[in-house]
Amino acid sequence: GASITFENVGKAYSKSGGTTVTALEGVSLAMEPGSITGIIGRSGAGKSTLLRMVNGIERPTTGAVLVGGQNVGAAKGSKLRAIRRDVGMIFQHFNLLASRSVAGNIALPLEIAGVPSSQIKPRVADLIERVGLSAHATRYPAELSGGQKQRVGIARALATGPKVLLSDEATSALDPETTQTVLSLLKDINRELGLTILLITHEMAVVRDIASHVAVIDGGRIVEHGETYDIFTAP
Ligand code: ADP
Ligand code: ADP
Repeated sequence: GASITFENVGKAYSKSGGTTVTALEGVSLAMEPGSITGIIGRSGAGKSTLLRMVNGIERPTTGAVLVGGQNVGAAKGSKLRAIRRDVGMIFQHFNLLASRSVAGNIALPLEIAGVPSSQIKPRVADLIERVGLSAHATRYPAELSGGQKQRVGIARALATGPKVLLSDEATSALDPETTQTVLSLLKDINRELGLTILLITHEMAVVRDIASHVAVIDGGRIVEHGETYDIFTAP
């Protein structure tokens, strides 16, 4: 896993008409390699903005975001692409391509990265096995349950061998039982591959179940950050 560090990060979005929206202000956070941090806060608090800075989809207006010591916001071109290969992401609505099979969806980041096709097939087969979908490699997303779709999303996120996994409400569209199986897969990945995991959730049970640390965000500011046990047992 890689460390993730926010150093006094601010983010302002420009809106039409010349106004700006402050999404984040003075955010300083340090996440250890291999930790699992749950980010909680109401809608509009800045959670997605924070997450999207870790893979460089959004850049900070002020301050710096570092992944494994590399400054994501300042990276461009091949350096930014290298950082993005180090950061996988999974989504609430899975974001799979309907026209591609399970194997085809998982192969996509490898194709984009220019991995030779002879290396893609064995790699995809490994990933499919890791997420328990060996019997479904040639199925299409429409033929899968929600839990199976998220397993494809997880395998795709792992394809480039990332050091960090970002999760944006990845279990919010799943029933409680399927949520448990997806969370235990994420725990296995954290334990076996050592990935640092940063997850947004509105479900306290998810945080209690999986996160070693919690960051609470409100109005673009971090209002609490610490070990899950301490936050949940604070008076
Ligand atoms: P959350 O994920 O906690 O709901 P967001 O990070 O999506 O919060 O949003 C934080 C604030 O930034 C909100 O006021 C939101 O409207 C604004 N915002 C988010 N993305 C954009 C954008 N692309 N353009 C303008 N404003 C945005
Ligand atoms: P799609 O049906 O989505 O178009 P393709 O047949 O084009 O998928 O395969 C996309 C990639 O997935 C190829 O690189 C291929 O090597 C790999 N692939 C296809 N089927 C399998 C499989 N059963 N196991 C592992 N990799 C596979």
